[in-house]
Amino acid sequence: MSLSDQELDRYARHIVLPQVGGVGQRKLKAAKIAVVGAGGIGSAVLPALAGAGVGQLTIIDDDVVELGNLHRQPLFRERDAGYSKSDLALQFVQRLNHFVKATPVQERIGPENAPRLLQGHDLVIDGSDNFATRLAVSDACVALGVPLLSAAAIQFQGQVGLFGRKPCYRCFVGDAFDADDCDNCAEVGVLGALTGTVGNFAALLAINFIVGIGDDPMGRIHLFSGEKLSWREIRIPADPGCRTCASA
Ligand SMILES: [Zn+2]
Repeated sequence: MSLSDQELDRYARHIVLPQVGGVGQRKLKAAKIAVVGAGGIGSAVLPALAGAGVGQLTIIDDDVVELGNLHRQPLFRERDAGYSKSDLALQFVQRLNHFVKATPVQERIGPENAPRLLQGHDLVIDGSDNFATRLAVSDACVALGVPLLSAAAIQFQGQVGLFGRKPCYRCFVGDAFDADDCDNCAEVGVLGALTGTVGNFAALLAINFIVGIGDDPMGRIHLFSGEKLSWREIRIPADPGCRTCASA
């Protein structure tokens, strides 16, 4: 996959980086990434990946913009209230970088449709706001063999982790959260600036993964405290009793 003169010019500050170079930029162009949720996390991930020249982005969100989203979702404006997030996110990406092929999917992702929606991607980034969705996405990713980058922000806490087949996201959180009624940020709150921090960290991790920069990122969970303003990292082992990946 080659880069045109216009692309070489556009991505010059990437290509000059020894860790990226023309080879890395072509890997980004060749990549197809699904982003689940065009909310707070997606509002940071999508501009970063579109700007970076990721070739194909699938934007999955069935929601519409509400005024209560605007403190953490800078993809949207006041006049967007009531309109589809995935369509608005598509317009944002198209205006930012016409080299990116973006596809909006206005469906609520769940166990039934997740395999169909996620297959064929090189990476799935999950920035959804509830555990039922995250576990459905994780289970589909394990079944499909697609790496999953899970990013979440709630109150003052953020977490980002990249999962291969084993350990999977379910090894990390367990089975207790499959019900659709757990806490989410609608109930317990989230600091607007936190989602941007966590979302941009997720985008950086995604780019490093696609290009092949840094140490093996799999199975490392990065935790951010917005009160202490610090990151820490934990490694999680595969759960031998995990109902998703133990037999995968
Ligand atoms: Zn597992």
